[in-house]
Amino acid sequence: MTYAEIILPLPLNATFTYSIPQNEEHQVKVGSRVIVPFGRQKQYTGIVANITTIPPKDIQVKEILQVLDPEAIVRHPQLQFWNWISEYYMSAIGDVYKAALPSGLKLESETKVELSDDYESEDVSTLGEREAMVVALLGSEGSLSLKEISAKTGYGNIHTILKTLLEKELVIVSEKLVEKYRSKREVMVRIAQGVSEREAFQMVKGAPKQETALLALVQLTRNKAVSEGISRNELCQKADVSYSIISAMEKKGVIETFKIEVSRFKYTGLSSGELPKLSQLQAQALSEIHKSFFEHPVTLLHGVTASGKTEIYIHLIDYVLSQGNQVLYLVPEIALTTQLTQRLQRVFGEKVVIYHSRFSDTERVDIYKRMLNTHEPCVVIGARSSVFLPFASLGLIIIDEEHESSYKQFDPAPRYNARDAAMMLARMHGAKTLLGSATPSVETYYKAKSNRYGLVELLKRYDNSELPRIEVVDMKQEYRRKSNAGTFSSEIIAKANEVLSLGKQVIFFHNRRGFSPFARCKACGFVPHCQHCDVSLTYHQRMDQLVCHYCGSQYQMPTVCPQCKEPQLEVVGYGTERVEDETAVLFDNYKIMRMDLDTTRNKDAYSNIIDDFSAHKADILVGTQMVTKGLDFGDVNLVGILNADTIINYPDFRAAERAFNMLEQVSGRAGRRDSDGLVVLQTYNPEHKIIRFLTNHDYKGFYETEIEERRLFNYPPFTRIIYLYVKHKEEMVAHETSIALAQNLRAVFGNRVFGPDKPLIGRIQTLHIRRIMLKVEIAASMTKVKELILNTYAAMGKVQSLSGVVFYADVDPY
Ligand code: ADP
Ligand code: ZN
Repeated sequence: MTYAEIILPLPLNATFTYSIPQNEEHQVKVGSRVIVPFGRQKQYTGIVANITTIPPKDIQVKEILQVLDPEAIVRHPQLQFWNWISEYYMSAIGDVYKAALPSGLKLESETKVELSDDYESEDVSTLGEREAMVVALLGSEGSLSLKEISAKTGYGNIHTILKTLLEKELVIVSEKLVEKYRSKREVMVRIAQGVSEREAFQMVKGAPKQETALLALVQLTRNKAVSEGISRNELCQKADVSYSIISAMEKKGVIETFKIEVSRFKYTGLSSGELPKLSQLQAQALSEIHKSFFEHPVTLLHGVTASGKTEIYIHLIDYVLSQGNQVLYLVPEIALTTQLTQRLQRVFGEKVVIYHSRFSDTERVDIYKRMLNTHEPCVVIGARSSVFLPFASLGLIIIDEEHESSYKQFDPAPRYNARDAAMMLARMHGAKTLLGSATPSVETYYKAKSNRYGLVELLKRYDNSELPRIEVVDMKQEYRRKSNAGTFSSEIIAKANEVLSLGKQVIFFHNRRGFSPFARCKACGFVPHCQHCDVSLTYHQRMDQLVCHYCGSQYQMPTVCPQCKEPQLEVVGYGTERVEDETAVLFDNYKIMRMDLDTTRNKDAYSNIIDDFSAHKADILVGTQMVTKGLDFGDVNLVGILNADTIINYPDFRAAERAFNMLEQVSGRAGRRDSDGLVVLQTYNPEHKIIRFLTNHDYKGFYETEIEERRLFNYPPFTRIIYLYVKHKEEMVAHETSIALAQNLRAVFGNRVFGPDKPLIGRIQTLHIRRIMLKVEIAASMTKVKELILNTYAAMGKVQSLSGVVFYADVDPY
C-alpha cells in the first residue's frame, strides 16, 4: 500500500495522509492534484507533497477519490519554495497553496448522486422512510447534488442516509467536477471550401460591404494557407464591418467560420528585436553587473530616476534569453506593467508574458499552464504573485523598485515579501537576482555596502540631464500671507501656469484619495467613524458617500449631526477628488486626469490613464502614490507635491525611509527628457531633515543618518522584527490575551519582547487588535525562534477561554 501526503487549501499547517487506490500508484506523482474527502462531507483538490509506504499511525486512512493530473502541476523546486514561505513567514502551507495557484486549478467539487442501474423496486420495501423518500426523489429528478437533496427533503443528516443507500448499492455517487477554467476560443473566418476566390467575388457582387469584407479577407490571408483563415474580430475591425455582414456572407456560402483555441497572451504585434543602444555610462553599468554576478548572485543597481535602468534590464534579459533561460521581471504595482510591457514587447515580442492579479482567473490559468508546458526562454513581467509560476529554467530575476513596500503582502496570509521570496526562489534555481532602485531600501543598501550583495551605481540621468530642482514652499508663511492658503500656494500656481503655457505637462501629487479625509460637526466637533474599524470616514463626493478606507463600508452622509442633531456637518481637508476639482477651477483652460484607486478599479483603467497621459491627451495629472512609481512621462516638467507632511509624519521606524523614497520617486517623474524639471514641494516643516536631503537629491546622506538611527535603536537591518498579532471581537479579550501572550513570550525571549500595543488603527472589521513586537538578533536561528513562538502559542491554545481569538505573525513587517 502506498500513501500520499496531501496539502489541502485550508489554513492548516499540516499535510494529510490518504491511501492511493491500487493500480493508480504510478499515476500519483509529487505535485499532482488529487480529489480527496475531508471531514464529514467535504471534498477538496489537494496537492501531493510526498509519497510514502509507511502508513500513518492511529488514524483511519481514507482513499484518494480521483487523480486529476498525470503529471505534476507543482513541480520542483516550487514545492520547496512553498515550504520555505510557509516556514519563514509562519504561514500555513495550505494558505501558501491557496495563494500560489489560480483558483481555476483548485477545482470545486459537487457531489452528484443518482440511482444505480441495478436498482430494483422490490428492494424499497426494506428501506426506512427517509431512505425511501430520497430514492423516490432521485427516481423523479435523475441526478442531484448532496446539497440539492438536503434542500428538497429538508433532511439534515443526508450523509448517513446516503451511506446506507450506497451500502445497499441503490445509488451511485458520480463525481462531477466543475472545471471552472475554460480556454478561450476564437471565431475564425475563411473562404468556404470549394469556392474559389473569383467565385466568391461573384457571389458578393452588388453588396458593397460584403465586397469590402471579402477584399479585406483576401488581403489579410494572402501570405497564409487558406485554411488558416483570420479571426472574425480582426476582419471586422480591419474592414470596418459588423458581425452581421459576416453572417450574411456565411449564409450565402461565400465564407465559413470555425473555432480555434487561442492562448490569451499571444502577442501579435511586431517586434523589432532590436536592442536600445546604451549610453557609455549605461554600457559600463551593464558590464559591471555581469562582472558582479560572478561573485554576488544578488546585485543591487542603484540608478537615479531616469538613468535608464530599464534599458540595462533589457540588455540583461536579452543575454539570459539567448542562453536559453527564463527571466522573471518583478514590478511592485500592476500599474507599472503597462508601460513596461510596451517597452519590452518592442524588443522581445511574444516572449513577453504578463501575469498579475488583475487578470481574470481563466487568463491566469492559461499562463500558468503555458509556463508549465514550456522550457522556452521567455520573460515574465509580474507583480507579487508571479513568484509562484512554474518556471522551468529561471536564469534571472529582476526586482525593479526593490524598496517598494507593496512587495509585502499583508492580508491575507501568507504574509510574504515578494522581493525576499524572489531572492530565495532565484537561489533555488541557481539564478541571479538584480535589485534595482533610485532609492534602495535601507536594508538592501546596507547589505550592498557590507559586501553581501554586489553594488553597481548609475548616478547620472540618461543623456546627462540634471535631476529636477526642488523648490520648497513654507506653507506656514503662505498661510500668514494669504490667511486661507488652501491646497495650492501662489508659488505652485504660478509655476504650473508657466509650464503649461509652454505646452508641457504637470503632475499634482497628493497622497489621499477621496474628497475630504473626514467630516466634522461644526457645532459639537463630532467626527463620523466606521462602525467596524477605528477610523474616521473619508467623504467621496463623486458617490456622495462616506467611505471606510480599511474595510470599504459605505455610509450616507448624515444631514444632521448624529450627536447634537444640528445640521452642521462639514467636510475637512483635501483628497484627490477635491484637488481635481480645484485644479479644474484654477487651470480651466487645461485638461485634467486623476489616477488613484477610485479611478482605476476597472481592468484597463490604469493603462488607459497612463496611455492617454503619455499621449498628452491631458495636461495635468492628479494622483496618489500610484503616480510615483517608475512611470516614464516625457513631457512632465513640473511635479507639485501638495502636502509632504502627511507622508513625513507617520509613527513607524520606517517612516523616514518611506517618506524620502516616495518624495524622491515622485520628484523623479519631472524633467525626464530635458533638464528643466522642477518640483514644488509644499510643507509646514521646511526645516525637516528629510526635506534637506531631498532638495539635494542626497540619497547617500539620507542613508547615513538613517542607518545610524537604526543601529542606535536596534532596528533592521541590525535586528529582525516579528509582529505577533492578537485579534478578538471583544476589546477586553484581545487586551488580556495579548498581555498573557507577552508574558509567556518574555519567559522565553526576555527583553526582546515589546508591548503589547494597540496599533494606530486599533480595530479593523469589527476585530480589536493588539500587537507584540519581537526583536531578535540577526544571528539568531529563525527556525529556533519560530519554534519557540509556536510552542508558546500551543501552550496558550490549551486555555479554554481563548476560543475566537485570532493569532498570527507578521515576519519582517513593512
Ligand atoms: P529609470 O528606470 O532608471 O527611471 P528609464 O529606463 O525609464 O529610467 O529611462 C528614462 C528615459 O530615458 C526613458 O524614456 C528611456 O526611453 C530613455 N532612455 C534611457 N536610456 C536610453 C538609451 N540608451 N537610449 C535611448 N533612450 C534611453
Ligand atoms: Zn471600516
